[in-house]
Amino acid sequence: MTHSLVASSATTGFFQTFPKVQPQYTIEGRASSQDETTDDIVLARLVQQYLPVHGQSAVEKSMHDMSRTVLTPRVLGYALEAETVTPYLRPTTTFGEINDNDPLVTCGGWKALKAIGMRAGVVKIAYDESIKSYNRRLHQFLLGHNWHHTSTLTMCPMAMTDGAASLLVKHLGSPDGDQPGRGAVLKEYYRRLTTDDSDQAWTSGQWMTERSGGSDVRGTETVATRLSEITAQQDQDVLGQPLGPWSINGFKWFSSATDSDMTMMLAQTTKGLSAFVVPMRRRTTTGTKLNGIRIQRLKNKMGTKGLPTAELELNGARGWILGEEGKGVQEIVTILNITRLYTAAGSVSYWSRGLAVSRAYTIARKTRASFLYNSLQHNHWMASETVKYRGAMSLTFFGVALLGCVEQGIGVMRNTPSAAMIPDIETASALLRLLTPVMKAQVSVSAVAGIRANMECLGGVGYCENHEDGGILNLAKTFRDSVVQTIWEGTVSVMADDVGRILRDKRIANGRIVEEVFAPWVRSILELCRGTFAKECAAVEKRLDTLLRLISRVKSSPTQLEYSGRWLLEHLEVLTAGSLLLHDANSQSEEVASNVAMRYISMKVAGEDRLQQDDADLEAEAIIDRRIFLGPHFVPEPEKAKI
Ligand SMILES: Cc1cc2nc3c(=O)[nH]c(=O)nc-3n(C[C@H](O)[C@H](O)[C@H](O)COP(=O)(O)OP(=O)(O)OC[C@H]3O[C@@H](n4cnc5c(N)ncnc54)[C@H](O)[C@@H]3O)c2cc1C
Repeated sequence: MTHSLVASSATTGFFQTFPKVQPQYTIEGRASSQDETTDDIVLARLVQQYLPVHGQSAVEKSMHDMSRTVLTPRVLGYALEAETVTPYLRPTTTFGEINDNDPLVTCGGWKALKAIGMRAGVVKIAYDESIKSYNRRLHQFLLGHNWHHTSTLTMCPMAMTDGAASLLVKHLGSPDGDQPGRGAVLKEYYRRLTTDDSDQAWTSGQWMTERSGGSDVRGTETVATRLSEITAQQDQDVLGQPLGPWSINGFKWFSSATDSDMTMMLAQTTKGLSAFVVPMRRRTTTGTKLNGIRIQRLKNKMGTKGLPTAELELNGARGWILGEEGKGVQEIVTILNITRLYTAAGSVSYWSRGLAVSRAYTIARKTRASFLYNSLQHNHWMASETVKYRGAMSLTFFGVALLGCVEQGIGVMRNTPSAAMIPDIETASALLRLLTPVMKAQVSVSAVAGIRANMECLGGVGYCENHEDGGILNLAKTFRDSVVQTIWEGTVSVMADDVGRILRDKRIANGRIVEEVFAPWVRSILELCRGTFAKECAAVEKRLDTLLRLISRVKSSPTQLEYSGRWLLEHLEVLTAGSLLLHDANSQSEEVASNVAMRYISMKVAGEDRLQQDDADLEAEAIIDRRIFLGPHFVPEPEKAKI
């Protein structure tokens, strides 16, 4: 018997069902359909770990709403426009004069995304003093986690805005000194950086990097000169406030938030490198123009397409000095501590989208006449990726929790399962100092690897610029945007260098931060978990001993310490994430969480995959794989039909 063959055509034959990316967070009981559950299950655990019951509902509502906003065609449309209608310059006017009014053009989608973030409170929540009894930073970053992946880099200016606000708040009460009028100006700038009224809100840039180097700002060639009092009082910023008594000249090599309203920057004075706050625009007799700033060109970048990253020439830009003249680096560190945390948080947010798309695709796609979710190998691979993601999430959100403690006081941890984990403010600030560079470096690098795996998970489609269907499946964009996180705000080597400095810093635990703060912190968690996870606790203890031995061997030699930089980053990363996953599984017992902790420790802490050992029950593990990857609520198709 012969079969008649029917050829496919462009319009007939097989068409893949569209993979449906689920809302990232769903409040229990508020799902709009039976299928809708929390897709990113770690979020519910973080809420329970770090927030007291009375603080949970506001945070959950933020996440629930935002995780739906990002899936609407309107917002996906903005994100697509911001990615494809890239910023451009119109450097001159019709008749060839320099355009110092509006040389930079960004698209409507970019502007709309900025406004959505502002109105949702992505910066404001951290400064909202009406939130007293729970951790504002947790709220802010959990909201941001549901937004960052779709915000198409508008979270880059938000990160810098947050950093600028955290620096300004330190100076709000300072006397004006020899800069009359500064206090009132800073107060107004701070108000605008921290409002959720998008008509009033300002964003801030951060101009550190020059051609001589971004990692080492000591080579800064921009120069600030103090003007006489009379000249300084004459000019006004866009709001009609005095413009500031310093005039700044020089060249900035990378400025991302070029469409911002103000910036923080470094410039040399006769006393050394100093920090300045500079408004972007000043008043003229007929309107406003840029404040002594010329945009030379926009960078042509691999990713971050919507972000108007530029080179800037400064010629008489006017501003105010912040902090002590010549001590600018100390000021800027406040900003960097915030933006580095955003880098880790942004990375896990991108990664979460990568995994969400992978889950949706795995549920929809068939290979060899069976759904992909029936492939044991596929699930095992993706479960391992999910375990790494959960390790990165635990590390990042621990950093967020620590920042909240340092800003609001240790009381914000009261009545949470994590209260015992952060005993006092000294421990919180020492751990935050140590772990900020660790998170920045390790999480951003792991996320790039993770998103690459997510692209592979989709086969050929994963490698394409999927601008169709709202661009939700465009992991190529997610990948590109995630790569920059490993570079800006300090490369991995610079972070490793920073850790080396912290280990020797006599102001923190007398130069023994790992021995006196970190190691006791790890051991205190192991004490809590040993009853349930004896084998895993022993593995963590062993790795901790390795780290302590390494430190005692290399610490006294700056060159050996430098050589060990990346080893130190990795030890600190896996010890922290492993301990946190154990604590999570121990304090809220649940099958997936326990298996995530056990697998992370076997893969990353012990470095010997226990699933490869002779006694591993691979059939049982395959069932766990699917639950880790697709969530405990996932029901395969035929079984669904039976239900
Ligand atoms: C898209 C994009 C946007 C950006 N936006 C901004 C912005 O808005 N504002 C801003 O100020 N900057 C911005 N930057 C600049 C960014 O912060 C710098 O590129 C980064 O800090 C690295 O500095 P660099 O480019 O001068 O490289 P370098 O510092 O020259 O680094 C080159 C190499 O040297 C290594 N290195 C440097 N120091 C050490 C060390 N101590 N030990 C070991 N190795 C070391 C680095 O790891 C790297 O491998 C942006 C960059 C990009 C790509």
